[in-house]
Amino acid sequence: MSGWYTETLYPDVAQRLRMGTVLHRDRTGLQDLVIFENPLLGRVMALDGVIQTTEGDEHVYHEMLGHVPILAHGAARRVLIIGGGDGGLLRRVLEHPGVERATMVEIDRSVVDLSIEYLPAISAGAFDDPRAELVIADGCRFVKETPESFDVILVDSTDPHGPGAVLFTEEFYRDCKARLAPGGILCTQNGVPFLQPEELRSSHQRLGRLFADASFFVAPVPTYYGGFMAFGWATDDAALRRRTAGEIRGRFAAAGLKTRYYTPDIHVASFALPAFMLDILGGAAAG
Ligand code: SAM
Repeated sequence: MSGWYTETLYPDVAQRLRMGTVLHRDRTGLQDLVIFENPLLGRVMALDGVIQTTEGDEHVYHEMLGHVPILAHGAARRVLIIGGGDGGLLRRVLEHPGVERATMVEIDRSVVDLSIEYLPAISAGAFDDPRAELVIADGCRFVKETPESFDVILVDSTDPHGPGAVLFTEEFYRDCKARLAPGGILCTQNGVPFLQPEELRSSHQRLGRLFADASFFVAPVPTYYGGFMAFGWATDDAALRRRTAGEIRGRFAAAGLKTRYYTPDIHVASFALPAFMLDILGGAAAG
């Protein structure tokens, strides 16, 4: 259907976005990449047939994946991002004045270059921040080989196929755990549970075997079709997931963050999972 971009992630349902000007369309060394304009969402990037980010709703995803773990931690100085080529998460991480260094490990240089060129509003200069370190490498290999440790590790990956598949394995989660400083938190892009229940179930089992506290928080990202987006949450400090809204409100104010989706109350509420997700998890992640 000319003039429309139809996502190819699911066999039985699909979203389609009107395509205005196509700004770039080509195969990188690893993935099919297209960036086009949409009248409602602004500029949109898709990889291998799957919407990755849009100017219109990227804030929901990036504010939640960035602010929830960093404000729950309370003293995060070293942050590792795996993936995140568009730079929207790097930007939110660097909005925290306490963050001294944010290392971003992205496998596909072209995603970064084309995002800086065609989606500058999303990264908003984050790649030029002196606290930012960009490494072009496979995230799975990086966490296995780096001697460094991190207070928070954020996995902003594609779905579990192609180059992103390794980022959903127990071996990768185990290597991430080994790179976490005491009291550290690992958070992951973990799909849309209503349409990807197996991804939720398998990640929960794998994280649950490695960490004292493994659960999820959720947020509705309009162009991640199918309802709530789930973010994996894993740490050995079970108290971090139970921060009160009052505690978070103080940290939020002190950090001087300006947000369009995230609030301290949304933070606390996002850990309350709907019954169908608890059923998928066999009721394990509730408490
Ligand atoms: N927020 C989006 C989502 O939820 O689908 C993801 C956006 S971000 C653009 C995903 C990035 O992960 C891509 O730039 C891709 O190149 C990168 N990526 C995929 N596999 C990777 C790997 N093994 N190591 C590092 N980066 C990887």
